[in-house]
Amino acid sequence: MKVTKNTVVSIDYTLRNKEGEVLDTSSGRTPLVYLHGVGQLIPGLENELEGKEKGSSLNVVIAPADAYGERHDSLYHVVPKSGFTGDEEMHVGMQVQLETDNGPAIAVISNIEGEEVTLDLNHPLAGVELHFDVDVVDLREATADEISHGHVHGPGGHHH
Ligand code: ZN
Repeated sequence: MKVTKNTVVSIDYTLRNKEGEVLDTSSGRTPLVYLHGVGQLIPGLENELEGKEKGSSLNVVIAPADAYGERHDSLYHVVPKSGFTGDEEMHVGMQVQLETDNGPAIAVISNIEGEEVTLDLNHPLAGVELHFDVDVVDLREATADEISHGHVHGPGGHHH
């Protein structure tokens, strides 16, 4: 069988950036198990996995547009330092949680200048070219329940 919509796919993967730095990996953990074709992975990776078989290995480069999108200047916000509470000393690169109109969001402090703090609300991987090594380690048909729920049940998936 091949990877196609509504198959349950187990993958081992390593994600690197263009510089070869490892950003994420399943190495040393159990494989990632996902339901194919419902948007659980970034579009570029789902496209690359489509039609592959158990035992397939992929080495793919995915542009930001097919991954987490480009960085947007509109997602930088300058706010006063005085608006922050908490004990931790603020520094560039620190993550802070914000309350927005759309619920809680994570931002990264990208600059601190005097009493002004610049927050970056872009996804951390926005604008990043993704280099994936992927091995398809298992493949099976999804059950009717999994298809109706839109996620995987059993080992590696949701339990309920
Ligand atoms: Zn379910």
